[in-house]
Amino acid sequence: MKLNPPELRPDLAPRINAAEPPRPGQPRVGMVSLGCPKALVDSERILTRLRAEGYALSPDYQGAGAVIVNTCGFLDSAKAESLEAIGEALTENGRVIVTGCLGADEGLIREKHPKVLAVTGPQQYEAVLDAVHAALPPAPDPFVDLIPAAGVRLTPRHYAYLKISEGCDHKCRFCVIPAMRGPLRSRPAGAVLREAERLAEAGVKELLVISQDTSAYGKDIAYAESPWRGAARRAHITDLASALGELGIWVRLHYIYPYPHVDRLIPLMAEGKVLPYLDIPFQHSHPDVLKRMARPAASAKTLDRIAAWRRERPDIALRSTFIVGYPGETEAEFAHLLDWLREARLDRVGCFKYENVAGARANALEGHLPDEVKEERYARFMEVSQRISEEKMAARVGTRIEVIVDEVDDEGAVARSKMDAPEIDGQVFIDEGFAGLAPGNIVEVTIEEAAEYDLWARRT
Ligand code: SF4
Repeated sequence: MKLNPPELRPDLAPRINAAEPPRPGQPRVGMVSLGCPKALVDSERILTRLRAEGYALSPDYQGAGAVIVNTCGFLDSAKAESLEAIGEALTENGRVIVTGCLGADEGLIREKHPKVLAVTGPQQYEAVLDAVHAALPPAPDPFVDLIPAAGVRLTPRHYAYLKISEGCDHKCRFCVIPAMRGPLRSRPAGAVLREAERLAEAGVKELLVISQDTSAYGKDIAYAESPWRGAARRAHITDLASALGELGIWVRLHYIYPYPHVDRLIPLMAEGKVLPYLDIPFQHSHPDVLKRMARPAASAKTLDRIAAWRRERPDIALRSTFIVGYPGETEAEFAHLLDWLREARLDRVGCFKYENVAGARANALEGHLPDEVKEERYARFMEVSQRISEEKMAARVGTRIEVIVDEVDDEGAVARSKMDAPEIDGQVFIDEGFAGLAPGNIVEVTIEEAAEYDLWARRT
C-alpha cells in the first residue's frame, strides 16, 4: 500500500519548489504523503488549497514552518510506518500536523507522539487547513495571491456566512444530510474566530453563523479550547458567540435547536454581542409529529421557552421553518400547529409542503397525504403566519430602528433591520434621505409604512 512520491516528501524532494523560490515572509509547509493513491489525491488537494492561499511548499524539513504527515492505517505495517514518519517529522521539524487514515485513531497517535499539533482523519480537508492556519498563519499578499485574504465569496462585500461545523448527529426521518455529510465535525474555535476576524478586516459588517446544528457546536471535539487573541477559546456556541461579539460587527445565529444551553445566548443579545435574532427550525409543534419526525428536542416545552426569551429580551426576532402534510399528520395535529403558531407569534416563518426525498426514512412511513390536503394546509398555515407578520410589521410604524444597507440606486436604498437575515426575511426600503448611503452602512431610520413582510422608512 505504500506509494511515496518523492516530490511530496520534504525530506526526499529537493525539486518541489525549485522553480519558484519563496518570497520573504511567505509561510512554508512540508508534506509527507504515505499510503495509497486515494491518500495521494488527498495530499494533492490539501497542497492545492494551501498554494492557493499563498503558502509555499518546502522541499525539506528544515525550511518548513510546519509539516503535514498524511498517514496510512490499512495494515499494521502501514500503521508502524506512519508512526515512524510522524516521529521523524517531529525530530526533524517539531511542528507536525497528522491527517489521513491513521488520523481516525487519534488516541494511538497521541499516545506515541503527544507533541503533534493536531490530528485529523481522512478527507477532513477543512480541519487540516484550520490546523495549518493555527500553526502557521497565512501571510496574504494582495499583489501575488490567487485569492483575496477573506477567500472567494459569493455574498456581497458587507455580509458573509461563517460555517462552524459540518454534518449532523441527528437522524430526522425526512432528512438525508447525515447520510450525505456524515456526523457532526466541528471546526476548532480558534480557526472559526480567525476566519471571522479576516472577514471583518476585509470589510464584512454582518456574520451569519451557519451549520446543520449550531447549538451542538463543539460536542464532537469535547468543546476543546484553542487560542485566539492570546486567550483559550472553548468550542461551545455560547463561548463562540461571545468571542464573535468582540469583533464589533453584527453576528446572526442560524439553525439553533432549542437545547437548554440556548437560554445562555439571550444575555449576549443584551450585551450587544449577537443580534436579538434566533433562527430555530421547529418544523412542527405536535409532540407526536415531532416524534414521527425523530426531531431533536421533540418533547421540549417550546412555548414556555419562547415566552421566557421574550420576557428577557422583548425585541428578540424569532424565525423558524415548518413542514405541513408530514406522513400521518391528522387534522387535529395540524390544528395544534396553527394554535401553537397563533400563541408563539413568531416574527419570521417559512413553510414547506412535505415531499419525499430519495433515501429518507420518512418515505417508508404510513399515512402519506394527498397533494390537495398538503396544499390546503399550506394555504391555511400561510394565512395565519401572514396575519401575524402583518400585525407585527404594522406595530413598527413610527419606531426608529437601525438597519444595514444592502443596495442603493437612484430611487432609494434597500436595507434590513436586525430582525431580517438576507435572502430569507423582510426588507426595509429607504425612500427618503438615502443620498450618500452605500452597501454595508448601518444607519438609523424611522418606519413610515408597513406591508405583510416589508417596511418603508426615511433616514433620521
Ligand atoms: S434536519 Fe437538521 S437536525 Fe435533523 S438530521 Fe437533518 S441536518 Fe440533522
